[in-house]
Amino acid sequence: VIELSNVSTSFGQHIVHERVSLEVKRAEIFALIGGSGSGKSTLLREMMLLHHPNAGKIKVLGYDFETITQAQEQALKQRWGVMFQHGGLFGSLTIHENVGLPLREHTDLPDALIDELATWKLSMVGLESGVFGLYPSELSGGMLKRASLARALALDPELLFLDEPTAGLDPISAGEIDVLILKLRDMFGLTILMVTHDLDTLWQVSDRVAVLANTKVEDLGSMLELSKSKVVSVRQFFDGARG
Ligand code: ATP
Ligand code: MG
Repeated sequence: VIELSNVSTSFGQHIVHERVSLEVKRAEIFALIGGSGSGKSTLLREMMLLHHPNAGKIKVLGYDFETITQAQEQALKQRWGVMFQHGGLFGSLTIHENVGLPLREHTDLPDALIDELATWKLSMVGLESGVFGLYPSELSGGMLKRASLARALALDPELLFLDEPTAGLDPISAGEIDVLILKLRDMFGLTILMVTHDLDTLWQVSDRVAVLANTKVEDLGSMLELSKSKVVSVRQFFDGARG
């Protein structure tokens, strides 16, 4: 579903990625981890066509980013859903309106059907009708994450990009998001690429994890494999996260 080969990225003199390669398979939950500044967000942006690397090949859902046309790009962007780290919901719209917005923008479905679909997506992520009319600023962190997940699901994506889906949540709310992520994969076969620092989430939901450090993918494997890794940056991640 996602293929990166020899992706290299620099900002001026600053090298962020050097020949990064990885492949995410269909219905896989794939996580990117790495220290601050290791280039996780940049790599995510590159996979979402928001930034172009200096070199290398990126293919998502069969489209090669080097040869993709404008029209294909527009169509492709509707086949993935994105959950931004800080929610990314519009403060001036209610929760229900936020979830309906992608449908209003990208489909010509009648309003009544859009409302119904938005309600259905909100119930999928476990939000009760009592919060539909509230504004983002009135929601708790866990509810906000759910609402932005519902919006990411609005157009029935095949692929989800999640940036820190459990950051800032208490362990119970974070655990509920973990369950939701697993459910989406298991019920709909969604492919999920996420950036996270959350060890519980990594153990609970990820199939494979790529560790970004020193401009490279320094290690890649299941959490069980990584927990036995001898690579220094991987050890630091496990030791640092525990302490
Ligand atoms: P964090 O965990 O703090 O979110 P990250 O792994 O997501 O970090 P990135 O945001 O991808 O890291 O940034 C990687 C490096 O690239 C950093 O040194 C950052 O300063 C630099 N960088 C990112 N975007 C730009 C940009 N638009 N212009 C210049 N430098 C940038
Ligand atoms: Mg980042």
